Amino acid sequence: MIGSTDDTIVSISTAPGRAAIALIRLSGPEALTIAAQHVTPWDTEPRRAHLATVHQDGEPLDQAIVTIFPGPDSFTGDDVVEISTHGGLLVPASVVAALIASGARQAQPGEFTRRAVMNGKLDILQAEAIGDLIDAHSHSMRRAALQQLDAGLSRRLAALRDDLIGLEALIAYDIDFPEEDDGPVPREKIETAVQTLALALDALLATAPVGELIREGAVVVIAGAPNVGKSSLFNALIGRSRAIVTEIPGTTRDAIEAVIDSGTWPLRLVDTAGLRATADTIEQIGIEVSERYLAAAHVVLACSDTDSGVEETAGAIAGKSIAPVVRVRTKVDLVSPSDQLRRDPNVVHVSAETGAGLVQLLLAIDQALATQHGAIAPDTPMLTRARHRHALEAARSELVQFERAWKEDKLPATVASVHLRAAVGALEELIGAVDVEDVFDRVFSSFCVGK
Ligand code: GDP
Repeated sequence: MIGSTDDTIVSISTAPGRAAIALIRLSGPEALTIAAQHVTPWDTEPRRAHLATVHQDGEPLDQAIVTIFPGPDSFTGDDVVEISTHGGLLVPASVVAALIASGARQAQPGEFTRRAVMNGKLDILQAEAIGDLIDAHSHSMRRAALQQLDAGLSRRLAALRDDLIGLEALIAYDIDFPEEDDGPVPREKIETAVQTLALALDALLATAPVGELIREGAVVVIAGAPNVGKSSLFNALIGRSRAIVTEIPGTTRDAIEAVIDSGTWPLRLVDTAGLRATADTIEQIGIEVSERYLAAAHVVLACSDTDSGVEETAGAIAGKSIAPVVRVRTKVDLVSPSDQLRRDPNVVHVSAETGAGLVQLLLAIDQALATQHGAIAPDTPMLTRARHRHALEAARSELVQFERAWKEDKLPATVASVHLRAAVGALEELIGAVDVEDVFDRVFSSFCVGK
């Protein structure tokens, strides 16, 4: 059963396929006993890597490096054995099969990290951060995930939760000792505490748009008339971008999407040039861009190979999208040097052919995003998922309802404080501080096996 920690799980933790090394993880109460049957020599010194033969029924399967991590000082908190075998498909699979034959069970996706959470080695936000680190396709996402793994966000939320509990305690005192000599708790004290908490919740909520954009990527749509060089620009930006490129299979046949790192923001670059076969273009002037993508865009590139075309395209887009528009004059390698002197400074001039202007274009996109969404503060904890935002919005709303009930003075304080309990509950569910099986399921279902 998932969630149980009383059996021993095993899995290959590295990606399958041809590689120098594969890492096999074994975790659970029988991990040491099971591994000892297949590893010779068996070195029981904790955390010391040693070379050993891994065998089954007397037949050597591989020469491997074996390390044991007795619980609770391991990733999962259980006894863990890590076996680094040679890579490829057969060797690691044979070792896993041998361990399963001796009583281990194939781990479910995310089960190692889940055990780490259940054993209190990580909280649920840190577990999410591990997933984000592995999936990171930009340096800003990597930084945000590392921050979250370092418990930056958890500490901030735990502090907010403590403040809410403090406020709850003030109200409880007021309820329990209304006739105290000192009189009831001063109303201003409670109102100030509510205000401070509301501001702190708002400050964290304000990080959500940037945090979610960093995690999901900013949608940058390339728009323009046929043959102005949109596809060439798309390819040039992918080719010259200095970081990791991930091709995402297009969701429709009419658009190609690629994730690139602009240096600051992860960008989901969308080329809708394939649209010419469809009717989904901006009418009359034939600008190739899907209205669906325009609606989802965070930045639109208005492209043309003539100055008047750039203005015409930008004008057509402005009426259709609320996203900032960056004006892009393509094919500048074809412009004579004398004409280049008369460049409009509000237009980025690029050439997919020579690579001219591509760096400036990425800077202009960064600038447009920063103007619209604010700059990325690298050391500040951020909300990076809708799950985080919804929990904080719920806590904020409960606080507002408490304040209203408290100020109106119609409801008894005991009833008003129910809202505080609910606000605390929302934050606890977010951190995973309470019994939250369904939250566990939601978070870990997207993990890969061996994580
Ligand atoms: P799209 O229909 O807007 O996607 O345009 P394409 O990218 O398919 O380009 C149309 C034509 O313009 C092709 O023949 C390209 O080789 C050419 N082209 C695109 N970009 C450049 C450029 O920067 N310089 C030059 N000289 N030609 C370009």
